Amino acid sequence: MQENQLQKQYPRLVVDLKKLRHNIDEIVDRCAGCGIAATGVVKGFNGLPEILSVYKDCGTLGIASSRLEHLEQAGKLGLKGPFLSIRIPMLSEIPDLVRIADWSLESERIVLEAIEDECRRQKRRHGAILMVDLGDLREGFWNKEELLALAEETERKFEWIDLIGIGTNLNCYGSIAPTAENLQQLVDLARQVEIRIGRKLQIVSGGSTTSLPLVYKGAMPRGINHLRIGEAMQTAADLEAFWGVSTPELHKDVFTLQAEIVELKDKPSYPVGEIRVDGFGKTESKYVDRGIRRRAIAAVGRLDFSFCSQLLPVNSGIEVLGASSDHLILDVEEAKNEIKMGSIVEFRMYYGPMLYLTNSGYISLVYK
Ligand SMILES: *Cc1c(COP(=O)(O)O)cnc(C)c1O
Repeated sequence: MQENQLQKQYPRLVVDLKKLRHNIDEIVDRCAGCGIAATGVVKGFNGLPEILSVYKDCGTLGIASSRLEHLEQAGKLGLKGPFLSIRIPMLSEIPDLVRIADWSLESERIVLEAIEDECRRQKRRHGAILMVDLGDLREGFWNKEELLALAEETERKFEWIDLIGIGTNLNCYGSIAPTAENLQQLVDLARQVEIRIGRKLQIVSGGSTTSLPLVYKGAMPRGINHLRIGEAMQTAADLEAFWGVSTPELHKDVFTLQAEIVELKDKPSYPVGEIRVDGFGKTESKYVDRGIRRRAIAAVGRLDFSFCSQLLPVNSGIEVLGASSDHLILDVEEAKNEIKMGSIVEFRMYYGPMLYLTNSGYISLVYK
């Protein structure tokens, strides 16, 4: 979008870069206190350069992303590596992977072979972290013997690949919580790899933000020395909302969505007529009859943030009712006196809206 042509101001995403830096420093320090290095995961804000720059000279162990574009951007901005690619690679992206990333998460032998060939061609070394599936059923070796064999082969056979360590991912697909028990399994496996290769591994990577509760509670198994952290540094909402960890030291307002009210009326709260499907083919009974209420529409929609249930109104008198692709529907009965036509309403957010809003061409980005 060309703002200077449209002169549009809203919807707007305000990003507080100082508060982001504060959160990064807090998490890095807390992890360091448990002997854990934290890599900063930047996919959640699409690697936007202004935000990425905040990670310059911070204490993270390099930068990680699922998209090579973000790591390339980090390189251009002069950020310090290692640059860690955290989506197991496509065979078709190996030349870019080897050129851009220093390390990657890996779960297929055939991919390591392709990396070895490409490294030889580019005369550039690459570090591999082999992934173990501990039950979440996303990426990683399920057969532990297969993992041990590949670790040994990587160490002994591949000339251009360094075996950096092993890691796991939890919570993302199967909703499986990281626990002292399943992460102890990772540590035990790391020790078995070390016996096979006759040296210590540099990295035993115990997950993402969802592994931080173990750090906060002092329950992280000894031997986990690395985490890959995005959310807790950025929206910083999950630890309190879903994990029962109090984090008053983290700013929850790094990202604020501002949207403008374009309609304000008293209307029934229950749709009138025959209920079929909404604009996205859903038939769920999501409507509650609370009689006539003051409703507002803000000019922003699912095209911009995807899930409206992950938007958190700053004004406690506002309730998010739903959204279509371009309209956000609010109950403002309790905030009647404050909300007028043209008012700007503000929202904090969980991870999802950050992910989409920072990738929407329709949002004005404002940095402070
Ligand atoms: C996204 C991702 C992370 C970071 O997750 P957060 O919840 O943002 O901390 C870590 N590891 C992998 C493999 C990921 O895909």
